[in-house]
Amino acid sequence: MAEAIGPPTMRWWGWGDPAHQLALPSHALRFLRETVGIAATPRPPVALGRVEVAPSALSEQTAAALRAIVGAEGVREDHAERVAHAAGKGYPDLVRMRAGQPEGAPDAVVLPGDHAQVRAVIELCARVSVAVVPWGGGTSVVGGVAPLRGEHAAVLALDMGRMGEVLDLDRESRTVTVQAGMRAVALERYLAARGLTLGHFPQSYEYVSLGGCAATRSAGQASTGYGRIEQLVLGLRFAAPAGDIDLAAVPASAAGPELRRLLVGSEGTLGVIDELALRVRSAPSERVYEGVFFEDFTTGVQALRALAQQGATPDVARLSDEAETRMSLALAGTGGLKGRLGKVYLRARGYGDGCLAILGFEGEGKEIARRRGQALQIARREGGLVVGRSPGEAWRSSRFSAPYLRDELLSWGVMVETLETATQWSNVPALHRAVGTAIAEALGAGGTPGLVMCHVSHLYETGASLYFTFLARQREGAEIEQWRAVKQAASRAIVRGGGTITHHHAVGRDHAPWLEDELGRTGVAALRALKSELDPAGIMNPGKLLG
Ligand SMILES: Cc1cc2nc3c(=O)[nH]c(=O)nc-3n(C[C@H](O)[C@H](O)[C@H](O)COP(=O)(O)OP(=O)(O)OC[C@H]3O[C@@H](n4cnc5c(N)ncnc54)[C@H](O)[C@@H]3O)c2cc1C
Repeated sequence: MAEAIGPPTMRWWGWGDPAHQLALPSHALRFLRETVGIAATPRPPVALGRVEVAPSALSEQTAAALRAIVGAEGVREDHAERVAHAAGKGYPDLVRMRAGQPEGAPDAVVLPGDHAQVRAVIELCARVSVAVVPWGGGTSVVGGVAPLRGEHAAVLALDMGRMGEVLDLDRESRTVTVQAGMRAVALERYLAARGLTLGHFPQSYEYVSLGGCAATRSAGQASTGYGRIEQLVLGLRFAAPAGDIDLAAVPASAAGPELRRLLVGSEGTLGVIDELALRVRSAPSERVYEGVFFEDFTTGVQALRALAQQGATPDVARLSDEAETRMSLALAGTGGLKGRLGKVYLRARGYGDGCLAILGFEGEGKEIARRRGQALQIARREGGLVVGRSPGEAWRSSRFSAPYLRDELLSWGVMVETLETATQWSNVPALHRAVGTAIAEALGAGGTPGLVMCHVSHLYETGASLYFTFLARQREGAEIEQWRAVKQAASRAIVRGGGTITHHHAVGRDHAPWLEDELGRTGVAALRALKSELDPAGIMNPGKLLG
C-alpha cells in the first residue's frame, strides 16, 4: 500500500547518510582540546577495500537452498554487504570498523520478501545448523547484531529491509499494520500524509526499523507523551523456528500472561517479528519546545517529579545535570541560549551554572496551551526559570545530529559513549552520583580523565531514566580495553545502585552479564526455557540477551 522505500544507505564505518557531512565547529574543537584533549590531526577510517573479512563459511549447498527460497538477489555474499552487516553502531563497533578490523562478518546477508520466506529460511537454518541474526536498521548499540555463530557452522544476517510495506490502516480503530522491516521514517511519512503519527522518535530514528524497535523495547525521545514501543505494539506475527505465533491487535486482554510482552524485547533470540500492529494518533498541529533553568540538578529532578506526579508531564522532558548543561552552553551554536551570554544571564538571575531542562509539548492549540500553562506553573513553583523557546527549538532541530558528531569525535581521537538506566524518583540523585562517580573513577584509573555528563528523561509517575554521556581522550591501541573498563564499572554501579541495566538500549551482548542481577537466576531460567521451546536448535541470535 505505501510506497516501498528501500533500506537507506548508511556509512559502513559510522553513522548516517554518506552525503551528509557534519564537522565540529572550531570553538567546539578548542573546548575539547582544553578539556579532554584531542589528536593533533584527524584520523579517517580505513578504505572499505581494506576491511578484513574471513572467507564465507556458508556451504554452496546451503547458499543454493537460500537462493531457492528468497531468489538470487536476496542472498548477498559480497564483501561490501558483509562488511555493512558486520556490526551495529556502538562505540566498540565503530572503533573496530574504522580500523578495518570487525570482530567477524556474517557469512551471507539474506533478505526475505515475506513471511513465508522468513519461515522457510529459519527452518532451513535450524536443519543445517546456521545461526540467524535478525537485522532491522543495524543501529544496536549493545552488540545486538554482532555476527556471532555460537556452536553453528555459519551465521547469516537476516536483513528485513525488503519487508517495508504498510499492510493495513484501520482509521476507525487507529491502528496500522506493517511489515516489521519498515523504517520508522517511512511509516511516519505515510502516516503524516493522512494526518496521523506513531510518535516514536528514538535518536536513531533516521535508520531504525519498527521490528528492531519492538525487538529491543525501545523508547523514543517523546516516550513520556506517546509511550514506549511496547505501549504502541498491539499485535504481532512472530516466526520462531518451532512455529508461528499470531497475536491479534485487541485493545486489552486477560487471556493469561501477556505473551506479546514476552516477544517484544526478545532481541531476535526467540524468532523473527515479521508483522506488527501499532497504535497511531492524530498528528499534532502544534509543537512547543522551551527551556527552563534550575539552580541545580536536585531541584530540577524534584520539579520533573512534580510534573510527572501532578498530571502535567510534557511529551518530551529532559533535564541536563550541571556538567551536561555546561557542555551544551559551551558548544551551543546559533539559535540556542548562547554560551557566554547564557552564563552571564543565569549568574545575574542567581542560577550559577544551572541545569537546563527542555520541555516539549505536542498537540492541538488549546490543549497544548492548557498543559503547557499547568506545567510551567509547576516548574516555576519548583524553582524553575523559564528561558523561552530558543533552547527548546535548538534542541528539537538538532536532536538527530549527535550521532554524526560522534564520528567526528572519533576522528579526533576522543572516546564518546553513552549508557542509560532507570530508577525510582527516591533513588535518582543517589544513582546519578554512584554511576557518574564510577565512570569518572574508571576513566581516571585508565589515565584518561574525562567529562561525565547526564540527563534525566523519559518520565514516569514513579521514576525516570538517567542517560550518561562520557568523553575522554582515546588510549591509542587500547581503545576497547579502555571502553570495557568503564562499561564494567558503570554496569556494576547500576546494578548495585538499584537501577535497571538498561532502560531502552536493550541487553544485546554488552549487558548480558548483568541480566541475572536484574531478573534473578529463576527469571533467567524461565527465559531460557522459553528459548529452548521456540528455538530448540539455538540458532536465533546466539550470545545475545541470555549470553
Ligand atoms: C545514535 C544512536 C541513538 C540511539 N538512540 C536511541 C533512543 O533514543 N532510544 C532507543 O530506544 N534506542 C536508541 N538507540 C538504539 C537503537 O537504535 C535501538 O535499539 C533500535 O530500536 C534498534 O532498531 P534497529 O531496527 O536498528 O534494530 P537492529 O539494530 O537491527 O537490531 C536490534 C536487535 O533487534 C533484533 N531484531 C531486529 N529486527 C528484528 C525483527 N524483525 N525480529 C526480531 N528481532 C529483530 C536484532 O537481532 C538485534 O538483537 C540508538 C542507537 C544509536 C546508534
